[in-house]
Amino acid sequence: MSDVLQVAGLRRSFVQGGVEIHVLRGVDLKVGEGEIVALLGPSGSGKSTLLQAVGLLEGGYEGSIRIKELEAAALKETERTAARRDMLGFVYQFHHLLPDFSALENVVLAQLVHGAARAEATARAESLLGALGLAERLTHKPSKLSGGEQQRVAVARALANKPALILADEPTGNLDEATADIVFAEFLRLVREEGSAALVATHNERIAAKMDRILRLHDGVIE
Ligand code: ADP
Ligand code: MG
Repeated sequence: MSDVLQVAGLRRSFVQGGVEIHVLRGVDLKVGEGEIVALLGPSGSGKSTLLQAVGLLEGGYEGSIRIKELEAAALKETERTAARRDMLGFVYQFHHLLPDFSALENVVLAQLVHGAARAEATARAESLLGALGLAERLTHKPSKLSGGEQQRVAVARALANKPALILADEPTGNLDEATADIVFAEFLRLVREEGSAALVATHNERIAAKMDRILRLHDGVIE
């Protein structure tokens, strides 16, 4: 199985109140094609820091991040933007949907930015939202959706461009336990159907246990 993601010797420090804090102290990990991997660690262990680096959203780290055949450090800014758009999908704890656009439009727009034609983008958005039980919610704006529904739209948006790798940061962390379990089960099913790989940060052992493999982040390294 070829790897979608290879991280080697990743280090990231922050200065807080004049003191340097070493958050990531040499993280090594791999995610295979289509593999769904939990990144488990308590709050403050560096999960978001790691995902932001892998998501090509932040520099300031040492080490190697390889997404398919691309070495992140070697990319120019325009190439990083293209890599993010073409290879990655993001789901955050809070949905970050565009508030003035409907559920359908949010998922369509992600594809138009990617260069898709409107008709195909609309068909794909309807199919993804339908698969997540939102066929009757297509024209709702985010503020008219429940928290679980908002996260389902965010999942559909993340998958819209068929990314090789989904990066999810506590994707159900803002939902009550029962809703979180349902939305997470749907997320897993759809990511598997679509064949994307995923790296999912969570502090929740129960959610982590549902994935293919668990990586534990502790003291700045993967145990
Ligand atoms: P997690 O997502 O596991 O809760 P984070 O990656 O958000 O952990 O944070 C890990 C540590 O790094 C925390 O101590 C946090 O305060 C620190 N940190 C994260 N981002 C910054 C930043 N931009 N500036 C300073 N410290 C930061
Ligand atoms: Mg976090």
